Amino acid sequence: MNQGISGVDAKQAIGLGRDAGVSDIADRHRVDSDYVFHELTRSICPACRRVIDAKILLRDNKVYMSKRCPRCGPFMSLVYGDAEAYISFTRYNKPGTIPLAYGTQIERGCPHDCGLCPDHEQHACLGIIEVNSACDMDCPLCFADAEPGFSLTLEEVEQMLDDYVRTEGRPEVVQFSGGEPTIHPRIIDFVRAAQARDIRFVMLNTNGKRIARDDRFLQQLNDVRPAFYFQFDGFERETYRILRGEPDILEEKLRALDRLAQIGLNVTIVPAIERGVNEHEIGRIVEFAIEHPAIRGITFQPAFHAGRHMPHDPMRRMTIPDIVRLIEEQTGGKFVASDFVPVPCCFPTCNSVTYAFVENGRVTPLPRIINVNDSTITSTTSPIALCRTSATKSGPHWKACGRRHRWQDRKPPCGKSQFRAPRARSRTTWQSITSQRT
Ligand code: SF4
Ligand code: SF4
Ligand SMILES: [Zn+2]
Repeated sequence: MNQGISGVDAKQAIGLGRDAGVSDIADRHRVDSDYVFHELTRSICPACRRVIDAKILLRDNKVYMSKRCPRCGPFMSLVYGDAEAYISFTRYNKPGTIPLAYGTQIERGCPHDCGLCPDHEQHACLGIIEVNSACDMDCPLCFADAEPGFSLTLEEVEQMLDDYVRTEGRPEVVQFSGGEPTIHPRIIDFVRAAQARDIRFVMLNTNGKRIARDDRFLQQLNDVRPAFYFQFDGFERETYRILRGEPDILEEKLRALDRLAQIGLNVTIVPAIERGVNEHEIGRIVEFAIEHPAIRGITFQPAFHAGRHMPHDPMRRMTIPDIVRLIEEQTGGKFVASDFVPVPCCFPTCNSVTYAFVENGRVTPLPRIINVNDSTITSTTSPIALCRTSATKSGPHWKACGRRHRWQDRKPPCGKSQFRAPRARSRTTWQSITSQRT
């Protein structure tokens, strides 16, 4: 039985496990743990990978996972840096969307039937195809643990895309990842293959090197016009030395971003934030993204300690609420914690997101002009949604009819339309900032 954070200490403190005399018994008293048991879940042993039970515990307004592998012993790690938010965000949860078809059947149980299998609680809202395992970098922090290995053929990628369409109908987004997808000799064909299947957003996850150096490749990108999910961790040499093993790579990244801006392609920059390395650069990254013409969004990723990574303390790792707090501290009020809302898909504590109007340098986070809390909430136990009217032409003003309707109703009884995003006006851009667990 796992004793959690301090159960063992507490029991030692009250003298369990030793012979007690009469006077000892009189002195003994029970004490409470310094944590609250929140829920039981399943996890895997980080050492031997066997599936084991895990407890979610709350202490000092933080969320921890505690688990014990019968072979490898106990493990404890920080999961979420704000327990209050972790609990209250469950109200954003919503019924999962069922895919048109599944990829596998249930045979051995989760996680061995990955597929998606019929036990999965959500459809695939984002398809990621790893087209190769090789990379033109060798980052010390690389959850793909990239190294030479496989390289998919066009036929294989087409088969995967066909399967994605079979299970999702009309997928919204696919990302080609790796390794480094831009060094795959057929990457432009892959982008075309996805576009031919009517997938709206085709993205390349890239470190930017080939874009910075290869004029012919830039021309090919201009022809097929994908979007980019672009590794960008900050501005300091030390940041890039520790995370990427290349202290002087900033200049190349800036060049790649400028070249993408020149041909009008859109970029989401993706900073990996590691405790003690680049957390102080978050504000500067936000300012830079607001200014740069190619950048439409930032996805901050707390460093993910799988694959290849530096030694770390699992009890002090960076989590989403930490990033949101740092954004507030380092942007001088441009963004504050209350501007961020959980994304119900895949699970509310996996992503926090905000959108903003950026007009003539003025930044207006969307949650300050619409009541996102009233207009997005559903509940697991009561699948109902607040009705929304669409935006008026004069601006993104939102009104609810005040009645609750079943989430599934496409046309609510009040006759008003469901949520539709207001269009950005001229010279106004949408900017998104997401902090996401991977
Ligand atoms: S598809 Fe989902 S439910 Fe099925 S095995 Fe994979 S993670 Fe588990
Ligand atoms: S993190 Fe990305 S750029 Fe770095 S080695 Fe891994 S795949 Fe390559
Ligand atoms: Zn184990």
